[in-house]
Amino acid sequence: MRLKAKAPARAKALHFLPGFQPSGAQHWPTPHDLYSALLNKEFVLYYQPELELATHRIVGVEALIRWRHPQRGAVNPAQFIPLAEECGLILDIGRWGLGEACRQMRIWNSMDPSLNRLRVCVNLSAREFAKEDICDHIEELLRVHELDAMQLGVEVTETSLMTNLSTAVNVLSRLRQMGVALLMDDFGTGYSSLNYLEAFNFDVLKIDRSFVSRMAAGNNAQKIVRVIIELARVLNMEVIAEGIETMEQYKLLARLGCRYGQGFLLARPMPAEDVTRLLQLPGKILPESSFDRRTEGLREIA
Ligand code: C2E
Ligand code: MG
Ligand code: MG
Repeated sequence: MRLKAKAPARAKALHFLPGFQPSGAQHWPTPHDLYSALLNKEFVLYYQPELELATHRIVGVEALIRWRHPQRGAVNPAQFIPLAEECGLILDIGRWGLGEACRQMRIWNSMDPSLNRLRVCVNLSAREFAKEDICDHIEELLRVHELDAMQLGVEVTETSLMTNLSTAVNVLSRLRQMGVALLMDDFGTGYSSLNYLEAFNFDVLKIDRSFVSRMAAGNNAQKIVRVIIELARVLNMEVIAEGIETMEQYKLLARLGCRYGQGFLLARPMPAEDVTRLLQLPGKILPESSFDRRTEGLREIA
């Protein structure tokens, strides 16, 4: 693959970004590969619908990045986000992702005025909110795309908060003042979860998939899920269960009072055009017949 003339200088400069230690043995991908993917527009956003469990109504979507590599096909974020974080390119990739998600949200808004209550949630890495200028960037995106701030959500994990606590406090409180929704992602898997819940005002707790997947009637995972739902209720937060793959998990969660969920059973991450089709269903309600009951034990192929 050939890069445009400017790329090599920038790729070289990547090694000077704070915190990046180039390792001796270069594995695929390299920072250079990531930079060229950005230049060549090989990244795309997929969107996974988030549903109200009782009604199957789509209330939001989570933007999930994919790399469409010309030779290797679809590359999942686990294969490149850690490197992008390490070398600093996550700042450029993240900015692209935020812009793309807002641009898409505006398209959905223009399709149907009732869609202006839909929320698009974007995952943020620690490095992205290490600089307070992310708030100005988001403010500008909301203005340019004429979005209500409540239509945008940012997902952060406990681990990413830990990395840069003092800036995170400032960034998240400013985003909150702006009206952007704050989601605590993968809840229950990091350290000191409760400290973070006390320090930050999250709007939403996302119950990590690991609890949901181990859940069965009466077992410990189910009891933990029940307590997380109760915790969210007491703290006035919404709760979204991640990774719902089976009807059993879906029913258990609904019975425990979990209001929202996402997972392969309900809808997989998909290109924007496919979400557009789902948003045109009456009431944005997915019929139960569309649930994918074969997902048990399967892993994502998108
Ligand atoms: P996440 O934010 O916790 O996203 C949920 C992950 O679970 C997604 O994996 C999604 O495809 C997967 N998933 C959803 N439902 C199910 C299910 O029922 N079963 C199973 N087995 N998996 C399910 P994905 O897209 O590979 O993303 C992995 C992680 O990469 C994300 O975890 C997030 O931390 C990160 N990521 C994805 N997109 C971005 C991005 O644009 N920026 C940043 N900074 N990180 C991103
Ligand atoms: Mg997430
Ligand atoms: Mg998650």
